[in-house]
Amino acid sequence: MATRHPTAWMGEAYRDLVSKDFDWKLRTLQSASAPRCTVDGKKVIMLCSNNYLNLSTHPKLKAAATSVIEEFGVGSGSVRPIAGNMAIHEELERRVARFKRVEASLVYQTGFATNQGLIAQLADKGDIIISDELNHGSIIDGVRLTKAERGVYPHNDMAGLEKLLKESDGTYQKILVISDGVFSMDGDVAPVKEIVELCERFGAMSYIDDAHGEGVLGEGGRGAASHFHVEGRVTVEVGTFSKAFGVVGGYCAGGKDLRSYAYNKSRSWLLSGSHPPMVAAACIAAIDVLETEPQHVERLWENTRYFKEQMQSIGFDIGRSVTPITPAMCGESAKAVALSKALFAAGVFALPIVFPMVARDKARIRNIVTAGLSRADLDEALRAYEDAGRKVKVL
Ligand SMILES: *Cc1c(COP(=O)(O)O)cnc(C)c1O
Repeated sequence: MATRHPTAWMGEAYRDLVSKDFDWKLRTLQSASAPRCTVDGKKVIMLCSNNYLNLSTHPKLKAAATSVIEEFGVGSGSVRPIAGNMAIHEELERRVARFKRVEASLVYQTGFATNQGLIAQLADKGDIIISDELNHGSIIDGVRLTKAERGVYPHNDMAGLEKLLKESDGTYQKILVISDGVFSMDGDVAPVKEIVELCERFGAMSYIDDAHGEGVLGEGGRGAASHFHVEGRVTVEVGTFSKAFGVVGGYCAGGKDLRSYAYNKSRSWLLSGSHPPMVAAACIAAIDVLETEPQHVERLWENTRYFKEQMQSIGFDIGRSVTPITPAMCGESAKAVALSKALFAAGVFALPIVFPMVARDKARIRNIVTAGLSRADLDEALRAYEDAGRKVKVL
């Protein structure tokens, strides 16, 4: 008999996480994700979803999803390169390209699968990938799948990027520069115009993962490239349907060659089942809504401005955020955890972000303002913040 139990290590690893308080304590929604929802049996104001425009419950998206089920069923039956490429998938890609004002797009199952499958194919031995130090984990995983050299520049530091580009010029065959558009922990924005200009100067590819910028920044929510007036000049724009678009899925957008190359090469795309037709239908409806109902993006920014101003006047430090992602900085982890608990007791759902996700002394509550919150919802949340902030001595 073997003395080793094959899975004993799992329980040990888990208990180690618990002892350090690094384990995820999963919350359970008993309602739709909405401005007022039910979490762990309690009615709360939602302040931590990515559902920026509240499209996940928009009547047009629900109707679009239900209307295709009768005719097309609930699954696509295959991966897209074999028998799972439906007309509705291609229609969605044409709609994304039109919305983003670029030649073409390719839809993946998720934003994560987009980064993992695509970055892995954009650089190889003899090439270099240059990343912002705070890029999203799915970008890091994509980079890890390549044999390319890696360079990392300090967060949003364009002199640092330029230095790496100068050093790489002439040394590597291809240069790929990758940055988040909006950084999800701090809510700050990458200087996309400068990144694009530097890439153009050095003949490098630019890759902007705008998961938190699509539906939020730019004209009608067209994202960071629109916000910085560089539409059509970013080599690869990546977005997700799981945040402001309210559904699920990922995409890359850019030139025709990018699309053809990407679908022939990305393993996450080639080897994984395509979206159910109802998902594609709901995503198309989300683009329809963005193109015809500008009020959602407007409301999002009205709410964002109000919440940020009020949080600051109450005395909270909201860091360097310039988007609906609004941190309430707390310092040490224990304070952020205590503040979140006190907020929940007062009917506000907002989760702490602590080490190792951010530095030890940069623990915070991360709030995400959404369009569907009423002024009364925001005022109630702000009152809870003021009381709870005093109680746990963050204020
Ligand atoms: C959320 C996020 C992703 C993952 O998108 P999914 O579609 O949810 O898989 C990728 N990149 C960034 C920057 C994100 O914030």
